[in-house]
Amino acid sequence: MRSFSYERATSIEAALQAAARNVDARFIAGGTNLLDLMKLEIEKPSHLIDVNGLGLDTIEKSPEGGLRIGALVRNTDLAADETVRRDYGLLSRALVAGASGQLRNKATTAGNLLQRTRCPYFYDPNQACNKRQPGSGCSAFGGVTRQLGVIGVSEACLATQPSDMAVAMRALDAVVETRGASGAKRSIPIGDFHRLPGDTPHIETELEPGELITGVVLPPPVGGKQIYRKVRDRASYAFALVSVGAVIHPDGSGQVAVGGVAHKPWRVEDAETELSKGARAMSAVLMEGARPTEQNKFKISLVERTLEAVLKEARE
Ligand SMILES: Cc1cc2nc3c(=O)[nH]c(=O)nc-3n(C[C@H](O)[C@H](O)[C@H](O)COP(=O)(O)OP(=O)(O)OC[C@H]3O[C@@H](n4cnc5c(N)ncnc54)[C@H](O)[C@@H]3O)c2cc1C
Repeated sequence: MRSFSYERATSIEAALQAAARNVDARFIAGGTNLLDLMKLEIEKPSHLIDVNGLGLDTIEKSPEGGLRIGALVRNTDLAADETVRRDYGLLSRALVAGASGQLRNKATTAGNLLQRTRCPYFYDPNQACNKRQPGSGCSAFGGVTRQLGVIGVSEACLATQPSDMAVAMRALDAVVETRGASGAKRSIPIGDFHRLPGDTPHIETELEPGELITGVVLPPPVGGKQIYRKVRDRASYAFALVSVGAVIHPDGSGQVAVGGVAHKPWRVEDAETELSKGARAMSAVLMEGARPTEQNKFKISLVERTLEAVLKEARE
């Protein structure tokens, strides 16, 4: 692990200024992803700005009747929050499907959204990876791709975004709130927040260098049955092969996002008009244009079957 300097920011302005002074700096929240990546020398910040003291750890009603979740709210606290459990059950279920109790006690809302891919080639410095080292190639092509992306992929990258929480937030139409290096506030709809890989897979979100996430806003409760179903190789402590986060209304309409298949939580609003016709009709539109490999083409039918199970559960 390389040496680095560390400071504990005591205000948002101080954190932004520290980031502006150090181009190689990273914010650190729970540290559950960043520190692992630093130990492997995949992330090499020269300076860490600890944002745990910024007071961004509250969950409050928004003026519009939704919920404002501070960037530093721990995954455990968010999942257990009474309002979240009652009005945004999908989010609570997605959170508890992720990681382990100990990790969720440390992991934060912002850190979870920004956690990096679990592609094995990204984690192995002996392999080519355009995400880890732009322009070096992608060893996943011709390699082991069972876990990797099937839709929205590019010639440069097959990685997926691994967050369970982000899938729920995508289905719930969350908005990410930030402060830029100049202090300016931005609101980024979650659908625009994560990027597809294209030929710049190392640029994973719309955040500018030094931009701080301050919170995430959920719109007013949408009701419906809220279900998160995660399919994985082990029953716990494993990332999703495929996951479906859904809000299903009594009239059969709904909002559906899928995890484990793309470089961002995958949602196609047009596909939701097919929902009342069933899982097959919807997943045909949802997964149109997919480019799976031999090893991961099972994910296409797995999406359909997982969605079918979600619809059945909603009917029951
Ligand atoms: C063994 C293991 C199993 C796991 N399983 C799952 C799983 O099944 N599902 C799942 O979803 N996740 C899983 N995780 C991932 C875990 O959820 C993430 O590591 C965690 O959510 C990251 O949050 P953090 O606060 O620790 O982020 P950190 O590690 O502190 O930061 C992550 C990134 O976010 C940036 N950052 C943090 N806060 C801010 C901010 N306010 N503004 C701007 N940038 C910021 C940091 O600079 C860094 O780049 C697992 C992790 C481990 C280690």
